[in-house]
Amino acid sequence: NNVIELYNVRRYYIVGDFCVKALDGITLSLPRGSFTAIMGPSGSGKSTLMNIIGCLDTPTSGFLRIDGECTSNMSEDELAFLRNKKVGFVFQQFNLLGKQTAIENVMTPLLYAGVGAHERKEKAEMLLERVGLKDRMKHLPSELSGGQKQRVAIARALVNDPAILLADEPTGALDSKTGDQIMELFQELNEEGRTVIFVTHDRKLGMRCNSQVYIKDGRIAEGY
Ligand code: ADP
Ligand code: ADP
Repeated sequence: NNVIELYNVRRYYIVGDFCVKALDGITLSLPRGSFTAIMGPSGSGKSTLMNIIGCLDTPTSGFLRIDGECTSNMSEDELAFLRNKKVGFVFQQFNLLGKQTAIENVMTPLLYAGVGAHERKEKAEMLLERVGLKDRMKHLPSELSGGQKQRVAIARALVNDPAILLADEPTGALDSKTGDQIMELFQELNEEGRTVIFVTHDRKLGMRCNSQVYIKDGRIAEGY
């Protein structure tokens, strides 16, 4: 029961006369409910891999299945639907809307999903409470600490109840104590049944995941 399956995925970029092989033949299966660290040097292809798993980007060749659905012949609309329904994204720099409060940031994806106002508010409040921000709902991102901002971003990523959580260096902009707390939150979310993929440069954090995948030069390596 693999929720994510990649078969010989390549992603090449043509830059002038050069071909950058960001991913060069990745085959990978991740079981439902797994908690995987993606590690590897800067420029090794980690973000490209996350973007492809999250259907923000498509392979140059090879194919992938997300929750049993092969993405190869999907239209842009079908890919967007899959992405919104199945995947939640968390980024290093939080990517919150600066002029919206915490609760507005969390509600925004529901607005696009056509959910009514009452349900939007209820769901966002429940999720902010879940991540420990019950008393910060009306604050702007500029009034929150880094760890609090990342908690808002995590609540937003959970709002469509995705099976898969993709976190691209979610602790990269945080001090180590705050990073540990965010890691604990991902561990809890994984224990609740979500499949979590966690990109990190921090070996200690990577080892707390249940499995580790090392990427080097766009390929899976034995460790580094
Ligand atoms: P990582 O996340 O491990 O730092 P990336 O996936 O961001 O690695 O990048 C992998 C390689 O692909 C790097 O050599 C990077 O410069 C290149 N790359 C990424 N995105 C682009 C792009 N849009 N155009 C050209 N090259 C790119
Ligand atoms: P990361 O934190 O993963 O290392 P980067 O700073 O390498 O991220 O890349 C940030 C963005 O820039 C990504 O969307 C990536 O696709 C793009 N990018 C990376 N390298 C290149 C490149 N050589 N040319 C064009 N875009 C790139």
